[in-house]
Amino acid sequence: MESFRLTQKEMNHLASKYPTPFVVISLAQVERNYEFLKSHLPRVNVYYAMKANPSPRIINLLARLGASFDTASSGEIETLSRMGIPGSRMIYANPVKIPRSIVAAHSMGVKRYTFDDASEIGKLASLAPGAEVMVRIRVKNQKALVDLNAKFGAPPEDAVQLLLEAKRAGLNPVGICFHVGSQSTAAEAYEEALLLVRRLFNDAEKEGMHLTTMDIGGGFPIPKAGSSMPDAGGMMDAIERQIERLFPDTEIWCEPGRFLCGTAVNLVTSVIGTKVRNGRQWYWLDEGLYGTFSGAIYDHWTFDFVSFKKGIKQLATFLGPSCDSIDFVRYDVMMPKLEIGDMLLVPECGSYTTASATTFNGFAFATQIYFEDEAISEERNVRNELSDVASA
Ligand SMILES: *Cc1c(COP(=O)(O)O)cnc(C)c1O
Repeated sequence: MESFRLTQKEMNHLASKYPTPFVVISLAQVERNYEFLKSHLPRVNVYYAMKANPSPRIINLLARLGASFDTASSGEIETLSRMGIPGSRMIYANPVKIPRSIVAAHSMGVKRYTFDDASEIGKLASLAPGAEVMVRIRVKNQKALVDLNAKFGAPPEDAVQLLLEAKRAGLNPVGICFHVGSQSTAAEAYEEALLLVRRLFNDAEKEGMHLTTMDIGGGFPIPKAGSSMPDAGGMMDAIERQIERLFPDTEIWCEPGRFLCGTAVNLVTSVIGTKVRNGRQWYWLDEGLYGTFSGAIYDHWTFDFVSFKKGIKQLATFLGPSCDSIDFVRYDVMMPKLEIGDMLLVPECGSYTTASATTFNGFAFATQIYFEDEAISEERNVRNELSDVASA
């Protein structure tokens, strides 16, 4: 699956209209990503993990395409409710919830909740009586960039007992969920988790509890600077085969965040200062770790920097504009010589970026532009149609 990427001409045109830093969101790319996932995982219901990018237009688009939503707070649930999305299309997938947020979720019609510990059962039973619950289990994965199983997940051997306990408390146990970790680059972690969940489904059946749903979480990967190209389609195909084999009658959910929006956004940032320190070239940018590049910290992400300049490349370090000395965005990138005012394109900038940006030190959020609103997107459409004709 190709990422959305501005051409030099498109970038220059947009930069003549908007001051940098700005991010350009392609809704058409979000739609392609959704269709790609649905075509490789046809059995799976998609719950978009909106924390990855809560842009209202991305949410609206996915809602229109038929997606549901993975939420973690009453704030996210309220945002969706205000947009007209019913609680029946949400899962409250944060295993440890703020009590008054459970009350709010229940009042907004959210039916399904996850938990991974007995201490959550009493909260759910009293504040959302009768709710459908799924137990989240801990799974192993060496090949994920962000390990979510350090913080979440019941030991698998406790899962069935936890579901039985939930049932005794008046809740409705419906299934099991897991998350192999974000930016997972191999299917094995999912395949192992599916085998484990199959075993737990059988154990539950022996206890007289029929489970109907499995939620395989998120984690599907996108291209990352300095790493080899992940084969998300191949991974999804392997997962689909395993689902067909092990879960012919189970309702399957997934919760992709990064995969749907990560490749749909480009950041354009400008060089605002150049220095040579200890023989190394440093470039100050007008966007930094406290802004769109916040993902370098929270998401452990390595951002790609594309320059359209020609010339001999040398190692360069990129820094953000704030007065904090943590604000190093990337070290040791091969770059042609840049000058103040030169622009850089940062692709794959759509997940865990703007969502966690701040205005620390008074630097404004990067302006958000939707590519398909811009006249320049028409030229791309014409170009694509011409190449379709040529290849037909
Ligand atoms: C963050 C999160 C996701 C999304 O993960 P991605 O790796 O972005 O696909 C899905 N489910 C839960 C419970 C999460 O916390």
